[in-house]
Amino acid sequence: MKKTVLVSGAGSGIGRAICETLASGETGARLILVGRNEGKLKETVAALPKGGEHLIAVADVSNQKELHAALAKLPWSSINLTGVVSNAGIGGGNAYGEGDRWNEVMSTNLNGTYYLVNEALPFLKASREKFKHVILISSILSKMGVPGYSAYCASKAALLGLTRVWANEWARDRILVNAICPGWVATDMAESGILQFAKGMKISYEEALALQMKSVPLGKMSEPQEIASVIRFLLSDAQVSITGQSIDVNNGALM
Ligand code: NAD
Repeated sequence: MKKTVLVSGAGSGIGRAICETLASGETGARLILVGRNEGKLKETVAALPKGGEHLIAVADVSNQKELHAALAKLPWSSINLTGVVSNAGIGGGNAYGEGDRWNEVMSTNLNGTYYLVNEALPFLKASREKFKHVILISSILSKMGVPGYSAYCASKAALLGLTRVWANEWARDRILVNAICPGWVATDMAESGILQFAKGMKISYEEALALQMKSVPLGKMSEPQEIASVIRFLLSDAQVSITGQSIDVNNGALM
């Protein structure tokens, strides 16, 4: 059966690029696209090479019951699940007190990953493929402390803890678990991050972008396709020894 990879947050940004990259080429994978917005997921499917028989599961990953129900509807007897990419996430700052976004950020970025991977685990274990893979999209901010971003930084750092635990727990099942820690990647999330920074500093978007890029040695953002290419390697048959690692893709912003 064709190798199948489940990707969350597949309706935009890095998630969409992951789907496009994994579905392309002669050995393009079949995909299960997970996200909240059915229309956006369908847009991603429409952009993929034809004939992939891709599947969609509409769910909020932070809602365990909804996620379980959406995945339960899939035709599992005809699916060979060989990879899971937990990419869905939200960004932005938070502050203690009224309107604190702590719970919202933690429940999406951390609980959402915990639920998604555990819901998919029995199907990964059932695959007869020699090696299976779980990839968590963390962030450079898992390793840096940015004032005003306690929830985001804590949630992304916690994903590195999950990576190490799961890599150990599932090694005997030949499931390799790794995290990717991107720096700035040119998506809507990055744009709104720069906008927020510009607003706080009372400067223009362009000035804020230039200031941020000063602390990036290569002076640029990554494209979503670059993250997708790293994921394609991590999911490939060539990759059978890297597990429990966090892989930095950040233009040198943290060395
Ligand atoms: P994005 O906003 O384009 O993509 C995030 C996707 O996740 C969206 O499609 C969104 O609908 C989905 N999503 C959010 N909450 C969800 C939920 N509760 N249930 C289901 N789907 C949900 O942003 P992106 O830049 O493509 O981000 C993808 C991942 O990469 C995120 O985890 C983000 O934290 C991480 N990341 C991004 C950057 C960057 O600079 N863009 C840097 C480091 C890490």
